[in-house]
Amino acid sequence: MEDKEWYERLTKVLECPVCLVIPESSIFICSKGHSICDLCRIQLKKCPICTSDFLEDVARNFVAQDLVSTLEQLK
Ligand SMILES: [Zn+2]
Ligand SMILES: [Zn+2]
Repeated sequence: MEDKEWYERLTKVLECPVCLVIPESSIFICSKGHSICDLCRIQLKKCPICTSDFLEDVARNFVAQDLVSTLEQLK
């Protein structure tokens, strides 16, 4: 696969479902596996997809953050 194709695929996977941008800082993941950027997490307090509570049930998504770095290199 060409770099451009990887770039487009990764962009779709990594973009935040709320603000639709690639998170530049921390990425979080709810207990059901939905990723969200740090800014939206602070504003929403609940997962926009499954409404699980971010205050109780949230973890850092280090895999996604790693992929964002990879994405930067493909640009
Ligand atoms: Zn967001
Ligand atoms: Zn969720």
